[in-house]
This record gives sequence, C-alpha cells and structure tokens, in this order.
Amino acid sequence: MGIVVQKFGGSSVADAAGVKRVAQRIINTRREGHDVVVVVSAMGDTTDELIDLANEVTPLPPPRELDMLLTAGERISMAVLAMAIQSLGHEARSFTGSQAGVITDAEHGRAKIIDVSPGRITAALAEGAIAIVAGFQGVSQTTKDITTLGRGGSDTTAVALAVALDAEVCEIYSDVDGIFTADPRIEPRARKVPRISYEECLEMAAQGAKILHLRCVEYARRYDMPIHVRSSFSEKEGTWVVPADQVRVDDTEKDTAMEEAIITGVAHDRSQAKITVVGVPDKVGEAASIFRAIADAQINIDMIVQNVSAAATGLTDISFTLPRGEGQTAMSALSKLQGSVGYERLQYDDSVGKVSIVGAGMSSAPGISARFFEALSDAGVNIEMISTSEIRVSVIVTETQVVDAVNAAHATFNLGSDEVEAVVYGGTGR
Ligand code: ASP
Ligand code: MG
Repeated sequence: MGIVVQKFGGSSVADAAGVKRVAQRIINTRREGHDVVVVVSAMGDTTDELIDLANEVTPLPPPRELDMLLTAGERISMAVLAMAIQSLGHEARSFTGSQAGVITDAEHGRAKIIDVSPGRITAALAEGAIAIVAGFQGVSQTTKDITTLGRGGSDTTAVALAVALDAEVCEIYSDVDGIFTADPRIEPRARKVPRISYEECLEMAAQGAKILHLRCVEYARRYDMPIHVRSSFSEKEGTWVVPADQVRVDDTEKDTAMEEAIITGVAHDRSQAKITVVGVPDKVGEAASIFRAIADAQINIDMIVQNVSAAATGLTDISFTLPRGEGQTAMSALSKLQGSVGYERLQYDDSVGKVSIVGAGMSSAPGISARFFEALSDAGVNIEMISTSEIRVSVIVTETQVVDAVNAAHATFNLGSDEVEAVVYGGTGR
C-alpha cells in the first residue's frame, strides 16, 4: 500500500479532545497498512488570535516577523498531535515546513512553493513512523527566512507534499462532510457533491465557496493528484476532486444525472465591493488609465462593466468589483486621476455580494443564463453586474439579497436534496 497524506484543519484539532480524536483516526489509517503523512493547521482560531496580538503590538507588523509568529500556530498542533499518537503506542515525528523540505519564494504572507524535498519525511516513513508536518509554512530559497503561504495555506502544503511523495491520495479533513451544492449555512437543502472536476472546484473556490485553498486545487490539477475532501467528525465518504473525465465514471444515479451534469453548485461571496467611475469621457485610453492606477496599487479586480456612452453626452460609466479590504486604496488611487481622466465622480458600494452558478455542463447547454436570471427575477433580486466564463455565470446583487439569490438558483437547477444532508460539526466560522 502507498502513501496517504491527511490534512486536518484548525477546527478538527481545536482542543486536546480533538487532537486525540484525530490521532486515533490517523492510527486507524496506519493500521490499514498505509504510510501516513499528516499536515496540520493551527488549533482552532489560533492564527486569528496571533494576528490580533501582532496588531495590538504594532499597526504594521513587519512581514518577516509576522510570518515567524504565525508559523508558531502550526508548530503547536504538530507537536501535540505527535505526542497524542505516541501516547497511543505509535511512532510519530513532527516537522516544521522547513524541516519537511517545503521551499518557497521570499514573499512573506503569500509565499509560493517552488520546490519540495521531503528527505526527512521519507526517512521517517522508512523507519515506520507517522510523519506530522506543520502546514502553511516553508522556508525561502534565497533569504532562508521562514515564510507563510497565505491564509488557508495548509491545504496547499498537503497537496504539494502528496505530489512530492507520489501519494495515492491527499485527504483534506475539515468540519463538513465534503463539498456541497451551496453553503449549507445559508442553503439548508444543499447536497453533497460526490465528485467534482478540478476546473469546477477552482471556479467554486474562486467565486467564494470556502472549500479549498485556491492554490491547492491548481497544484492538484497540474499534477493530477486526487483530493478527497471529508469530515474528521464522521466516517462518511466525502467529495472527490478529480480530472474532468473521471467525474461521472461510476455514476450510479444516471437517471438523475442529466440535471446534475449542467450545474454543479452555487457559490457566494460577500467579500467584495463595487466602484463606479461615473461620467468617463468615451475616448481612447481612458479605461487604460483607470485600470493602470488600480494595478499600480497592487489591487486585483474581478468584474468590469463599461456601459455604452450616451450619444448626447459622450460620457460612459465604468464599474468594477474588487476585494472590500482594498476599497479605500482604490478610491484614493482613482481620485488622483480626476484631473487627467476628467470623470464626473466616483461611487463606492461595499454592500454587494456575488452569486455564481458553476458547472462544466453549461458550456454545451443553451439557456442556462436565462434560467438563472428568471429565477432571480421571480425572487425579486435585482442584478447589478454580470460576468461569465465557459463554466460559470456570476452576478453582483445587493448584499441583503445574497441568500435569496442562492436559494433561487439552487432551486431552479434542482440542486436540493429532500432531507437535510449537511451537518456542520465544528468551527467558529472565524
Ligand atoms: N492556520 C492558517 C490559517 O488559519 C493556515 C490554515 O489553516 O490552513 O490561515
Ligand atoms: Mg485555520
């Protein structure tokens, strides 16, 4: 039997009891004959608490020291988990990201993994031990400083290690039973998706579904590493994230598969804001100057809409969405352009939400947008902006209507199950 990589999130190891429960689970996998490599996140809300602490000390913590501080969270979990496993009579050894050979670039707070050389992990496995690795962290190839991979980065550690170790599967354990057709917290009839393609999973994650770290799915797709997303609180089979051609291979529910094939899920995101530049002169180069200013402020934008200009005035409006946290930076960058661009005014709206339907089947099924928009209209939801990809349709709506929009989309594409399937076992949702 081969290597299994298991990643446990913060809510699975929130306290001593959780750590012991997870330890038992890891041992069960070991007893089945697998070599087990475990990646852990910080216990409970530790990372948030450490960030709060840093901000109490200084409003702008130096990135190098902040990374050093945050990686302590995962070190605590890896050590106590190794102790718990040893107390149950099994060999276990903990390793920091750096000891596990996770090599990154030098971008503190959002480092990218550039290489994994897990020599000490393979050595520990060869000696019969279970290897426990601190997630979310690595060491910079150039500066040799400790780095972190960005919030939620332990998923990416797990997939990267699974690839480097040529594991059979990367299991990601959290406090829900898998990936659902919508967030069970706002859609009680959400259903577990048995299999989902990397592409659909990427779209869901990018559109705000808090399932997996975006980069972990990109990494898995690049190397064809199957991910099994499941709960550490139950024994249920979770969701398999796999190549598109493996999604419907052994589908036993073929008769109901028609509808499922079109829309896989509904994602929502409340973390965005909308800026409208009102009264932009409709001439060459204006959009270029506006978005250059945003780019130079290092802000990632999402949707853009430019209206046709009114013939009478020759003026147009340009709206775009961006992460809420960057709203003020963007507004001040744009206000500096008023003289050169000559727009009339700026509008800022942070009470918006994005609702997206995702499904590989829509690229070959006409009428999906129409159905989605009709459902929104029947629910009295006004659409402010629209964007699409080959396998996604997203709309911006007012924040108070996000739940209505999700429920309407979920119902119109028959995604709901008859009984309540989703159980949220833990976590504070922080
Ligand atoms: N502990 C880190 C965080 O909360 C990394 C992770 O959980 O994956 O973002
Ligand atoms: Mg966490």
